[in-house]
Amino acid sequence: MSFSSGHALPSVVGMDSIEGAVDRVVALAEINSGTFNPTGVNRVGERMAEYLEELGPDRIESIPVDPTPVLDDAGVEAFQPVGDAVRAVIRPDARFRLCLFGHLDTVFPHDHPFQQVRRDGSVLRGPGVADCKGGLIIALEVLRQIENGPLAERVGWDFLAIPDEETGSAGSKALLGHAAAHATIGLGFEPALPSGGVAGARKGTLTAHLVCHGTSAHVGRAHHEGRSAILALAQLIVKLEALNSNDGVTVNCGRIRGGGALNAVPDLAIGSFNMRVETAEHHRFVVDQFEAASADCPLPVDLVWGSTRPPKVRNPELEQLFADFSATADRFGVDVPVEDTGGCCDGNDLAAAGLPNIDSLGIRGGAIHTAGEFADIDSIPERVELVTALIDRIAP
Ligand SMILES: [Zn+2]
Repeated sequence: MSFSSGHALPSVVGMDSIEGAVDRVVALAEINSGTFNPTGVNRVGERMAEYLEELGPDRIESIPVDPTPVLDDAGVEAFQPVGDAVRAVIRPDARFRLCLFGHLDTVFPHDHPFQQVRRDGSVLRGPGVADCKGGLIIALEVLRQIENGPLAERVGWDFLAIPDEETGSAGSKALLGHAAAHATIGLGFEPALPSGGVAGARKGTLTAHLVCHGTSAHVGRAHHEGRSAILALAQLIVKLEALNSNDGVTVNCGRIRGGGALNAVPDLAIGSFNMRVETAEHHRFVVDQFEAASADCPLPVDLVWGSTRPPKVRNPELEQLFADFSATADRFGVDVPVEDTGGCCDGNDLAAAGLPNIDSLGIRGGAIHTAGEFADIDSIPERVELVTALIDRIAP
């Protein structure tokens, strides 16, 4: 298959199939699949498995993953069950292997008001239409292009959709590692950036909880006997937010919990933080600073690390992949810039595990993670053609 010979891709370009693809995005988005709604996530997974069956894969598996740790209001770690991952595999012994990846979950819990899908012309509005259900269907159509054409002789693939991406993929790390070890190139179907571009470098992320333990006392009778956990936490927050003065490091305390009766010295306070880092050195620096601050606090502090993703750094292999992608986009005359971003996804983990990947090949759209989420239907055939042509260019 060669574009230089003027060969047009047999693709979803036929109106019927675009409509068929759109119907499938709607069908997936109408199923609530908030990360902690495993029943809904599994229904989305079952639908995807049905669609993947059409491609005649060597195997399709539903794979349970570990529950996600969450910290309750008492500062105790609990575990929330999540749905299963879905993996389909074709030609596992091929020399050039792709891993196409995306996720089944969304940020919208089952009781969130944003549940309906609506179509306005070429715009689809609904939970997950862009992030990442539109992308899952684009991936499916790319795979159909492979299986229906000569690319099938040159590539094998894994399709991996995980159930817990929106909370940091805590239970899916082993699956991602396995995928990285068995593939040559990764293609991820997270939504396009707002510009329509794809993500270049991505910052790494860390989540930490500081659980401060004080001593309770009656404010009127024995205030001097109390040790305020809230005061200690407040001082820790000021100290750690000051790390924002370091280039390449972002620290945000996004949630505080604790205290209770106003006439009692609070004996518990929990601060929950998210950090973004540009390099592995920044990552270590943040870890060291949190450990030191916790150790120096006059009150006992439990430091509980949550989900973590390493930074995705633009190494030579990744630059080569971006160059191939840009050249492919140029050939189509479409503008798909490669832009660095502070957002993170499974592309970070896969890159850190040694798999060069472009991770935002999904649908164009916007306002993701909000009740205004939308997706541009016209980008479905464009992305399918673009990604298929990229594969054609890079597969030996
Ligand atoms: Zn996503």
